[in-house]
Amino acid sequence: MKLKSLEISGFKSFADKTKIEFMPGMTGIVGPNGSGKSNIIEAIRWVMGEQSAKGLRGDKMQDVIFGGTSKRSPLNRAEVSIVFDNSDHYLKTDWSEIRLTRRLYRSGESNYQINGQDVRLRDILELFMDSGLGRESFSIISQGRVEAIFNSKPEDRRAIIEEVAGVFKYKTNKERAERE
Ligand code: ATP
Ligand code: MG
Repeated sequence: MKLKSLEISGFKSFADKTKIEFMPGMTGIVGPNGSGKSNIIEAIRWVMGEQSAKGLRGDKMQDVIFGGTSKRSPLNRAEVSIVFDNSDHYLKTDWSEIRLTRRLYRSGESNYQINGQDVRLRDILELFMDSGLGRESFSIISQGRVEAIFNSKPEDRRAIIEEVAGVFKYKTNKERAERE
């Protein structure tokens, strides 16, 4: 499974549609302070279902929508798409290529798509659950996270280990079945 590309538009500092294609090997993102490096990583977390505005350095989710500059008016919509090459079917779906899209409007209306079809947040989360790529996974480690994991409560640390070990999905399904 490989990250192929990322398209960002109207998300944080990326007012214009910006496409990043990931080549084989390692990719480094460099640039001056404030140029949007962290915003790119946040776009990846957001499209994969991040629900915490604070985790994206905002107060409310609409803060991810381009808020304007002295030269440019604010936009009404944030949209991020990410494309994975899933030809090895690492993610448990028949799709060999997966394109996820998330949109959010100032009105609060939002939607998710997988390969152009409307889906629920739950479908997105389930796709990544136990893949080691979920929004709470180790695939994206922000500053301070390592320390937070070491200092967390044993129950929270256990949840992290369960996610990595691949039992988290079954627990979540069991809890949902018990609720419904
Ligand atoms: P550093 O090297 O300091 O970590 P960085 O390259 O990671 O910097 P970011 O934190 O990604 O930079 O980008 C910060 C910039 O994004 C700031 O200029 C901020 O004003 C801008 N920004 C954040 N949210 C929005 C928004 N909703 N609309 C417009 N600009 C935004
Ligand atoms: Mg940064």
